[in-house]
Amino acid sequence: MTSPTRLEDSFGRTVQDLRISVTDRCNFRCLYCLPETEAAANFYRGRFHGTESSDASKPITHTWKPKSQFLEFEEIERVVRLAAGFGVNKIRITGGEPLLRPRLEELIARITSIPGMHDVAITTNGTGFLKKGKLLRDAGLHRVSFSLDSLDRENFKRVTGRDGLQEVLESIQWAKELGLSPVKVNAVIIRELNDHEIEPLAEFARDHELSMRFIEFMPLDSQRTWKKHLVIPGTEMLERLQKRHTLTPLPAKHPSETSKRWRFQEGNGEVGIIAPVTEPFCGNCNRIRLTADGQIRTCLFSLVENDLKPMLRNGNADAEIEDYLRKVVWKKEERHHIGEDDFVQPSRPMSSIGG
Ligand code: SAM
Ligand code: SF4
Repeated sequence: MTSPTRLEDSFGRTVQDLRISVTDRCNFRCLYCLPETEAAANFYRGRFHGTESSDASKPITHTWKPKSQFLEFEEIERVVRLAAGFGVNKIRITGGEPLLRPRLEELIARITSIPGMHDVAITTNGTGFLKKGKLLRDAGLHRVSFSLDSLDRENFKRVTGRDGLQEVLESIQWAKELGLSPVKVNAVIIRELNDHEIEPLAEFARDHELSMRFIEFMPLDSQRTWKKHLVIPGTEMLERLQKRHTLTPLPAKHPSETSKRWRFQEGNGEVGIIAPVTEPFCGNCNRIRLTADGQIRTCLFSLVENDLKPMLRNGNADAEIEDYLRKVVWKKEERHHIGEDDFVQPSRPMSSIGG
């Protein structure tokens, strides 16, 4: 019997996109990810209406993984090479904050030199990019996405726990100058926190020719503070944007695209909406994740992890690892269950899964 040449799951989906977390550490404390600041406590206090599923009395007791458990660059490169053999051609490096991983440019060079890697990107909060951006671009990085949830210095501080707005703005500009276009910008929108900034953020994207992505808040934060009423549904975001601008829908580049996109009548920027909570896109999901400590996760909301590290460290042959990947992907979950009675939040927060 010949082995399948693709990573297929039991629901007919084919994995082509691998997201790799290179560290679980982060220098930010975003209110929707690691809400561990006083500002976060103040924001969530008083916003619990008491009846929804998230259980704030049970914060995730996440601990930082020992760095000795992080996969080495050679190990990550090997996984990517084997995945490329199955047709995986899209890699996103993430974290935690990926720029905190020393010598990240070496990993980018290793990955971009693997044949078939058409799209190698990083997602970053932007700190450190002014120093690292050119090294990353020269190593072959294709694209970069920045997180930017506010254009107001005080609100940025409240959302991220850091006084870092200026550095992110400069980093975005630097990425454009380095030719890492189109530069993407992600904003997680939370009711009464930054929803009043949807319009200014969209206009910022239009004026600076950026691809803005507004993302619904998902139950993946470390303190289990997520509540449905804090989610601004994608339809509400779109209605608000359409009140201000004439937006023309853009065709999906690929069926697995997570965002719906529009361009402005004026300018070259675009806006997109990623609505995993109210308009799930699981049916076309082609992604799996590799955590910094070597676990394969077949869904953001997986409750089961698949430890690849022992195979990488115990001398298993490529064929054995390929076989393992095939078996793991076959069991990929059909969909997430956010908002349903049986929903269980994973034990890792987003910072440790890799967004
Ligand atoms: N530290 C980097 C950053 O913030 O860009 C990369 C890692 S971060 C976990 C990746 C993405 O996940 C970010 O764009 C962030 O906005 C998003 N994210 C984190 N927690 C989220 C949540 N609870 N709901 C929706 N998106 C979330
Ligand atoms: Fe914020 Fe990214 Fe750090 Fe999470 S991992 S706290 S989203 S900067």
